[in-house]
Amino acid sequence: MSNMSDVQQYVTGDGRRIYGFRVQAFAGLVANIYVIDDGARLILVDTGSGLAQSNQGLVDGFAALQRELGVAWQMADIDQILITHGHIDHFGGLPFVRQQTDAPVGVHILDRRVLSSYEERVMVASRRLETFLVGAGVPEKYLAQLMQVYLFAKPFYHSTPVQFLLEPSRPVFDIDIYHVPGHCPGQVCLRLGDVLLTADHVLARTTPHQAPESITLNTGLGHYLDSLDKIAQVPGIRLALGGHEAPMPDLYGRIGAIQQAHQERLDKILAICAGMPQSIAEISRALFGRVESYHVLLALEETGAHVEYLYQRGELVATNLAEIEQTQNPVIRYQRV
Ligand SMILES: [Zn+2]
Ligand SMILES: [Zn+2]
Repeated sequence: MSNMSDVQQYVTGDGRRIYGFRVQAFAGLVANIYVIDDGARLILVDTGSGLAQSNQGLVDGFAALQRELGVAWQMADIDQILITHGHIDHFGGLPFVRQQTDAPVGVHILDRRVLSSYEERVMVASRRLETFLVGAGVPEKYLAQLMQVYLFAKPFYHSTPVQFLLEPSRPVFDIDIYHVPGHCPGQVCLRLGDVLLTADHVLARTTPHQAPESITLNTGLGHYLDSLDKIAQVPGIRLALGGHEAPMPDLYGRIGAIQQAHQERLDKILAICAGMPQSIAEISRALFGRVESYHVLLALEETGAHVEYLYQRGELVATNLAEIEQTQNPVIRYQRV
């Protein structure tokens, strides 16, 4: 991890500076942190996960900006904090950052309660997730284990108030806001002239994770694909910077590749469901093979989002109607129409 705080500097067409560095959010997950210097103020974009190594990564990153790029400011000088979406690897560091600066925090309204009513929201969402997992056909013996995996980051964050909202109709500090629900309900992209901070909406290598809307409203593949179209129609983006992974010099090409990956996954699921009816757990196994711990949850959610998309559009039907009628929380088996 010696090069974890490698710093980058980008300059927008209109002369604003964007500084970037990386933090280890979780084991196996590196998150990008950005600081915008628009000449008048310093704006921090995302805060890492709040785990000790992630918080240390913030401290190291700011130190590296001073050391390697000669900036004259530090974390305490931040004027505004923007959270791109309500996932813990992006907002979990808020309590730590707010110990260094009382800069106001902004987020999209659909993710506000995740930051400000965290404990309540996690509890409600975890019940919905459990219902989804049972319906997906996850055996009882794995259920508690998966729920534990889901809740493991919970102790590292406590509810933190939000001071302002990121709204598409109202640029903040000359940054244009695009609301792009799908990966997360309140996901936003931030545009500074010809540079777009895409957060987790578009990533350089990974197809951003999808979960079914049955767990959280305004997620789901349908919303996500609409939001990809929305960003594909934003003209003149020369450089896109994601919430993880490398910068993207070809945003539009990358969007095309992600759209294609989802189409291929949808086609695969239709092929899997062409014969015997399949549960989401069975489809997930056929798509992703045997995976471990957190990846089991990710695979089930990803599969669930695609199955939901096809089911909503009448391309898959539930076949085990008698079982569904007679069971409290039935496993649903899908077949291609
Ligand atoms: Zn995310
Ligand atoms: Zn993320």
